[in-house]
Amino acid sequence: MLNMLNSCKLCPRNCNVNRLKDELGFCKSGSNLSIARVSLHKWEEPCISGTKGSGTIFFSNCNLKCVFCQNHEISQEQIGKEISIKRLSEIFMEQQNYGAHNINLVTPTHFVPQIIESIKLSRRNGLSIPILYNSNGYENVETIKSLEGYIDIYLPDLKYINNKFAEKYSMAQDYFKFASCAIDEMVSQAPNPVFNENGIMLKGVIIRHLMLPGLLFDSKKIVDYIYKKYGDNVYLSLMNQYTPMFNAAKYPEINKPLNKKHYESLIDYCRNLGFKNAFIQEEGTAKESFVPHFDLSGV
Ligand code: SF4
Repeated sequence: MLNMLNSCKLCPRNCNVNRLKDELGFCKSGSNLSIARVSLHKWEEPCISGTKGSGTIFFSNCNLKCVFCQNHEISQEQIGKEISIKRLSEIFMEQQNYGAHNINLVTPTHFVPQIIESIKLSRRNGLSIPILYNSNGYENVETIKSLEGYIDIYLPDLKYINNKFAEKYSMAQDYFKFASCAIDEMVSQAPNPVFNENGIMLKGVIIRHLMLPGLLFDSKKIVDYIYKKYGDNVYLSLMNQYTPMFNAAKYPEINKPLNKKHYESLIDYCRNLGFKNAFIQEEGTAKESFVPHFDLSGV
């Protein structure tokens, strides 16, 4: 599995670099895992956080360059600590022992081979809670196929449908082409949501869409696409937590908070389409204070 790193094509950047020999590609990830925080997180969708929290692991680096990234310290500024495959498997076990409902791998794409090895190790040691793949959606289908049997719940973003905005705000002109194929594969691995008696998700797909200022038209096209393609076999999570941060100041059209009426309009639109399985966010989630501190806690 680790030999996937010797000519890395884990994501659509297809850098083809030998990460086992310290060559770095677009995401600047080497052969070692790097993480910036581990915590029991209570602010995910209710079926993920439950009452005890989701055992969340924030990986360093990213294969997108979102100008508004709220986690830019770890995604683009390489904050984090290198750890071994064995240490990650111990972290999984620690989270299970703390009572986490699941293991939540945040932005894991560029570390998939190492993560699979850690999952194998921790399963041998008794890891039994669901494992959740929390991704920006910019994925190669082959990488998602390699996760079959290891991942129980997929939580991909579907950020853009328009190539122009994908390029402008995330440096990924072909985002929708790859994200839509990757989500197809995720749904084929987890075609129907399954919950336990307490309403905690055990298997399934939740597609997240973070609404951006001024892009109501695009957001409507995205939810149209999701509903026509998957109906109620997936859950939709509409996010209003956009905060103008990081390099958003260079783009006046998104350097402002989300218009509350636009978010309500998108919710109405989903209701009219027929969505039954959808999560929405309360007002007040768009604050910098909700951004986690990447202080290496739990690492
Ligand atoms: S995971 Fe990183 S090195 Fe590999 S193809 Fe993607 S951006 Fe390039």
